[in-house]
Amino acid sequence: MTKKTFPLNQAQLEEVIKKYPTPFHIYDEKAIRENLRRLFKAFSWAPSFREYFAVKAAPNPALLKIMKEEGAGADCSSIAELELSHMANIGGEKIMLTSNDTPADEFQRAIELGAIINLDDISHIDYLEKNAGFPEVLSFRYNPGACIAGNDIIGRPEEAKYGLMHDQLLQAYKIAKDRGVKRFGLHCMVISNELHSDAFINTARLMFNTAVEIYKETGIKLEFVNLGGGIGIPYHPEDNAVDLEYVGEGIHKVYKEIIEPAGLGGLAIAMESGRAITGPYGWLVSTVLHEKKTYKDYIGLDSCMANLMRPALYGAYHHITVVGKEDAICDHVYDITGSLCENNDKFAIDRWLPEISIGDRIIIHDAGAHGHAMGFNYNGKLRSAELLLKEDGTVELIRRAETLDDYFATLNFPGCRYQMKK
Ligand SMILES: *Cc1c(COP(=O)(O)O)cnc(C)c1O
Repeated sequence: MTKKTFPLNQAQLEEVIKKYPTPFHIYDEKAIRENLRRLFKAFSWAPSFREYFAVKAAPNPALLKIMKEEGAGADCSSIAELELSHMANIGGEKIMLTSNDTPADEFQRAIELGAIINLDDISHIDYLEKNAGFPEVLSFRYNPGACIAGNDIIGRPEEAKYGLMHDQLLQAYKIAKDRGVKRFGLHCMVISNELHSDAFINTARLMFNTAVEIYKETGIKLEFVNLGGGIGIPYHPEDNAVDLEYVGEGIHKVYKEIIEPAGLGGLAIAMESGRAITGPYGWLVSTVLHEKKTYKDYIGLDSCMANLMRPALYGAYHHITVVGKEDAICDHVYDITGSLCENNDKFAIDRWLPEISIGDRIIIHDAGAHGHAMGFNYNGKLRSAELLLKEDGTVELIRRAETLDDYFATLNFPGCRYQMKK
């Protein structure tokens, strides 16, 4: 069981809303910091543990700055994410470029920033060398195929577009070594939003065995294995969070069993966790605009799937609470909707909630990762502001809400008052 909380009381929230109208996303700095510290602590046994925060989960430099201050780096998959990390003063080997189908300019920017590059395919060795040259540290993304079971978000490994197959992997290290690369890592991300702690230990075992095999076959002593992201969060109150201490200890055992006897004892452990770092500590706050009773009882919010796409995209559960009615009996059944002309624009379907009135503030929980970040402008809907609840209790605007000017900024239409300035 996981209790769903919100860090502001009703009066504090109303104060915030006076200044920043709903909808908005708000993040809890203190909770994010404590959470990162917990992750580092769970792996404090490792010769070196690195967390590269997956920027795509919450691409805001104010949040990345917190990551940096806590000792984390950044996992990037685009030029924009590289630039956001750079803005937050994260650079060099604190950046991991784990992208796929990568364009040349992205490799080039990563090289300029001194990033570690994690290649998604054997053919990318030539492409990288030709277009950007090799980085100081090169890594390859392993797709182990059928030896690992998948889940709904990431699918089965053998159906996933990511990574090199086993034999390609060994060959890739040999090729890169022959071409002069000296420092290497290994990456694998086969799970997403996984709540079973043992899944991470099993992945680590697979990775460690592969690291030993790479050493035997190529003579390369890897500097790190990167277990990727994929630590799930308890979206549903009935879920339990992943026990990071248990995972850390479990991986430690496997490390002692496989890595140390093979003479690879300095091997660092890396992760690219995104969801588990910010997910539970970000909320989408909305106001009820309408109640509509037809075949069902619909509550219409001032936000929509442009602000949080996960329920519509994956049918994902996000817990919902009504401010001031947290302890009220859930004796009404509602569909909680947004305003898109898409019938899947629903934050919840047939959800038991307390009686809701127009004007109520609605909190959608666990929106701190892959929430605002997945926003889009379909139907001309604008993305909301992002706020940071700081450790001292003040609230800072870390991204303003989009305006129509932003939306029209790329149009080039004669006579349009928004016409691009030439
Ligand atoms: C999405 C992604 C992550 C982060 O995943 P979370 O589920 O947010 O932990 C890390 N690495 C790669 C390569 C990814 O694509």
